[in-house]
Amino acid sequence: MAYDQTNIFARILRGELPCDTVYEDEHVLAFNDIRPLAPVHVLVIPKGPYTSLDDFTANATPEVVGHYFKVVGEIARKAGVAETGYRILSNIGGHGHQEVPHLHVHVLGGRPLGRMLP
Ligand code: 5GP
Repeated sequence: MAYDQTNIFARILRGELPCDTVYEDEHVLAFNDIRPLAPVHVLVIPKGPYTSLDDFTANATPEVVGHYFKVVGEIARKAGVAETGYRILSNIGGHGHQEVPHLHVHVLGGRPLGRMLP
């Protein structure tokens, strides 16, 4: 799937829409989800034009992929959820029910999240 430059997270990256930033560096931006499902609900996105985790792991360099996941862990620790536990989740494509076609990992925590898989 070609990258859609008009998606909401692309617009946030270009500064056209605001976000509540919790972390930013050269390659990664993280911000609070607008409709939080838990006390901690952060979205972590790469700055490159990757539609999904599938696109990212297929096409980004191992260094960029590795850095991204290091940041995901750092954000969880900084948010104070590493001790109690948390969940990371990335919806991919149609069957994954991905709404925004720019890779994002959800970092969810701050309450018991329940069982997700049967
Ligand atoms: P998906 O279903 O694609 O995995 O999740 C998309 C997420 O983006 C949802 O949790 C939704 O609440 C969040 N979201 C959608 N639009 C915006 C926005 O404009 N700002 C922020 N911060 N989050 C958004």
